[in-house]
Amino acid sequence: MTEIASGKPLAEEIKGDVRKRVAELPAPPCLCVVLVGEDPASEVYVRGKGKAARACGIESREIRLPAPTREAELVRLVEDLNRDPGVHGILVQLPLPDQIDPARVVFAIDPDKDVDGLHPVNSGRLLANEPGFVPCTPLGCLYILDHHRVPIEGARAVVIGRSEIVGKPVSLLLLHRNATVTICHSRTRELAEIARSADILVAAVGKPAFVKGDWIKPGAAVIDVGVNRVDGALLGDVDFAAANGRAGLLTPVPGGVGLLTVAMLLRNTLQAFEAQTARRRP
Ligand code: NAP
Repeated sequence: MTEIASGKPLAEEIKGDVRKRVAELPAPPCLCVVLVGEDPASEVYVRGKGKAARACGIESREIRLPAPTREAELVRLVEDLNRDPGVHGILVQLPLPDQIDPARVVFAIDPDKDVDGLHPVNSGRLLANEPGFVPCTPLGCLYILDHHRVPIEGARAVVIGRSEIVGKPVSLLLLHRNATVTICHSRTRELAEIARSADILVAAVGKPAFVKGDWIKPGAAVIDVGVNRVDGALLGDVDFAAANGRAGLLTPVPGGVGLLTVAMLLRNTLQAFEAQTARRRP
């Protein structure tokens, strides 16, 4: 029997907690999301983040810039937001148009407002297992495993994907929880065999139904991070039908990890607010 790990009740639990804590604050935290261009998927994500923030009592500012915006202009905007005491969290929606180097923009964000956890100061803190901002999707993956009481310590975890936003941080979170972690990528040999050794399998590849049923060890916890649009439908990186019945735990797409990502963004924004207001206190 496979337990399907729906993200909805967990996301509601996290957002409920954020809403309660925000209601007790003297002023609301503010999340500023910057969107450059008109990528339709990004539009949907930005609208979703704004709506979720407002529902939790978090002020949501959305700044939209035209697709031809130059890198220097975007960096200047980020620097202005860094200085604005009314903004506690800054998120620049990726991907950015080709003329803008995303690394230059992410590096410009004040690490203390970097609620996406992508600034190298925050990746360094994660590497060192020190407090900081951790990317939202990996936080969601761990939340799901913990909620379902999947043992992490000593478990063999295989992460397929090594991006800065998912693969690397989720691997580090698992490592800090004493899993034995293997990180796979496009040059990995014998991927199916490695995947089959996993007690915890995280797929963050960006290829629909990439992980086949017989790559999954019976009873394994399978976290499907992938979001792939195929003929108007959303598909994960795991062949859901084949994994269902073989995995012990399986996250659906949609309705799985993605919902946790937004909830964790709100939690990170609250964390940013609390840290910044504590620092300003005499
Ligand atoms: P990414 O930056 O494109 O990274 C993909 C990773 O997959 C890379 O490390 C790549 O290896 C690896 N890969 C590609 N082809 C492979 C192959 N044939 N065998 C093994 N590994 C392979 O993507 P990402 O940003 O991490 O996102 C991954 C997926 O998660 C996407 O579908 C994305 O939409 C989704 N996502 C979902 C959420 C959410 O909230 N649910 C959040 C973020 C991302 P190399 O490094 O060697 O190229």
